[in-house]
Amino acid sequence: MDKRQLLASLPSVDEILKSPKGLEWQQSFPRRCVLRAIRETLEQRRQAIRRGDGKGLSIAELWPDIQARAEELSSFSLQPLINATGIVIHTNLGRSVLPEEVLDQVKRIACGYSNLEYDLGKGRRGKRYAHVQEVLNEITGAEASLIVNNNAAAVLVCLSALAAGQEVIVSRGELVEIGGSFRIPDVMAASGTLLREVGTTNKTHLRDYEGAITAETALLLKVHQSNYRIIGFTGEVGIEEMSALGRKHSLPVMFDLGSGCLIDLKPYGVQREPTVQEVVRAGVDLVTFSGDKLLGGPQGGVITGKRELIERIARHPLMRALRVDKLTLAAFEATLMYYLDEEKAKEQLPTLKMLLQHPEELEGRAQRIASAVRGALGVSSEAIASLQVREDFSQSGGGALPEVEFKTYVAAVKPLRLSVNRLEERLRRGRPPVIARIQDDLLLLDARTVRDHEIVTLVEAVRAALAA
Ligand SMILES: *Cc1c(COP(=O)(O)O)cnc(C)c1O
Repeated sequence: MDKRQLLASLPSVDEILKSPKGLEWQQSFPRRCVLRAIRETLEQRRQAIRRGDGKGLSIAELWPDIQARAEELSSFSLQPLINATGIVIHTNLGRSVLPEEVLDQVKRIACGYSNLEYDLGKGRRGKRYAHVQEVLNEITGAEASLIVNNNAAAVLVCLSALAAGQEVIVSRGELVEIGGSFRIPDVMAASGTLLREVGTTNKTHLRDYEGAITAETALLLKVHQSNYRIIGFTGEVGIEEMSALGRKHSLPVMFDLGSGCLIDLKPYGVQREPTVQEVVRAGVDLVTFSGDKLLGGPQGGVITGKRELIERIARHPLMRALRVDKLTLAAFEATLMYYLDEEKAKEQLPTLKMLLQHPEELEGRAQRIASAVRGALGVSSEAIASLQVREDFSQSGGGALPEVEFKTYVAAVKPLRLSVNRLEERLRRGRPPVIARIQDDLLLLDARTVRDHEIVTLVEAVRAALAA
C-alpha cells in the first residue's frame, strides 16, 4: 500500500468510539478525554505514515496507545512521588512534608465555615492574622507577626512598606540569588527601594555600613547567604552589632533569614544557624523566613518583629495581594503548635524528623530496601542487578545548611541488563514516580527521605523497572 492508501485505511474517530473498546472507555473516562486520546493517537499514526512507517493501523493495534493516553488525560497531573534523593527540603519535590494531624485541621477549616475574620468575643469583624500571631509571638519572642504568601513576598512587602523611594544598605557578600527569580537586587528594584551596596564580596565591616548612612537611608538589611558560603578570608557584621548601629541612627534593621530555624540544631552535630529566637533577641527589628523550609510547615512567609513596624507593613496595599488563604493559615497554626513543645516538633514534624535521624536508623532502612529488592527479583536477582548498602552524604536542601553534609545510608543499585540512566528514567516515569540520584554509574536510593510506609511501593517500583 502507498501512503495515501495507508492513510485512508485508518479507522475514523467514530468507528473507534463505537467499537467495544471505545464504549468501554466511555464508561471509565470522561468522554472528552477519550475523544482527545483517539484524535491524538490517530494524528501520531498519520505522521508516522507520512514518515514512511505504516505499521499498526487497525483498532486492535491502536487501542493500547489510546487507552494509555486517556488514562493520562483523566488523571491528576500533580501527584505524590517517592523522594529517594535524600534532600529533605527539596523545592522541586514540594519542600516540606506535613503531618497528617495538620491536614486534619486544614480539612476541618476548609470543609466548612470558620472564624477566619470574625472575632467571636466581640461578635464583629476580626483579623485573619490573629490566629497565628499569638503562637508566633510566643515561640519567637517577638512583639508582633504576620504571614504572607512566601518569604519572597515577606521581603517584598517589608521593603515596599518601610523603604520605598529611599535607600536600603546591604553587604556585597549578601546580594544573593535563591533559585532563579528571587534575587535581592531585583526584589529591591521591584519594591521601589534603592540598593546601596557596601563592603566587598568577602568582607564587610561595621564602618562600611556606618559610612553609607545618609538622610536617604531607610533600612539596614541583612540577608542569609542560604545556598552558598564564602570561605577563607571573610568577615561579616554580626546581628548584635548591626542592631546597635541601627538603634544609634534610629534605623530599622531587617534580617531575611531564609530558612528560619526555630530549634537550635547544634546538639545534633549540625552546624549552627542562628535561630529566629536568637535573631529577635539580638535586637533585629524585623525577621522574615519561609514556612516550608526548616520550619516544616506549609508554603508561607513569616514576618516577625517590632509591633510598630509590623503595623506599618500590615497597612500596606500589597498585603491584600500577598495574603494567605484559610487553608494555609490553618496549616500554619497547626504546624506552629508543635513548637510549643520542642521535643514534639522534633519527633513529629517530618522535616525535622528526617533531618535528625540517627545513622543506625538510616542504615537499617537502607538494608531493608536492598534486601527487599533482592528478594523481589527472586532467584535470578544476581543476573539483573547488584545491590549494596553504603555510607553517603545527603544535603538538607531549601537553601538551609548548605555546608552541612548529613551522614546517610543509601541502597546502591547497579543494573546489569540496562543502563543506569535508563533505570533512573523508568523509575521517574513510573506510577508512583521515584526520584533517585545517579553517582558513579550507580542508582542511589537514599534512606533519609524514604518513609517507612513507602518501602513496599519503592521496592515494587525498582523491581518492575529492573525487570521490564
Ligand atoms: C528561600 C529564601 C527566600 C525565598 O523564600 P520562599 O519562601 O521560597 O519565597 C528568600 N530569602 C532567602 C535568604 C531564602 O533562603
